[in-house]
Amino acid sequence: MPEQVAINSPEFARNGESLRGRVTVGSMDRLRDLLLSGEGELEYILAGRRGENGKLYLDCAISGQLQLTCQRCLDALVYPLDVESELELAEGEQSQDGEELTDAIEADPALDVLALIEDEVLLALPMAPMHSPDECKAKANASQAKLEKKNAFSALAALKTKD
Ligand SMILES: [Zn+2]
Repeated sequence: MPEQVAINSPEFARNGESLRGRVTVGSMDRLRDLLLSGEGELEYILAGRRGENGKLYLDCAISGQLQLTCQRCLDALVYPLDVESELELAEGEQSQDGEELTDAIEADPALDVLALIEDEVLLALPMAPMHSPDECKAKANASQAKLEKKNAFSALAALKTKD
């Protein structure tokens, strides 16, 4: 059974409540589809507050590790996730004024916390995750290409000095 965690988000923010929990990576279907493996857990902290402007916010922090696929060598890549976001609760029909510095979500009296966490993780995922050049198995090819480039330059330099 998938876990369900729901909060009354405007109440939660108004009362300055907070919630801490863990969620299994494999239980998040949309996220799972993008991963090499659904192993592991993510830890999340959700904290509500009322801003100085009277608006309501949810601060969301998510951390853990995801198993992605390196787009260079197609091998496993452990991606350390560390998301911090500030979400404004948009109440009623309040329209967005173009210059929003924070993301807004609907002030939902039955907010699905895990769906929110999954949304935030999806937003934070890199489009093309890759190992750092030192760790990547495709490293050999990369340095080979660099070497060829270097040779091309020295050939060019040699031509120039001939003049
Ligand atoms: Zn790689």
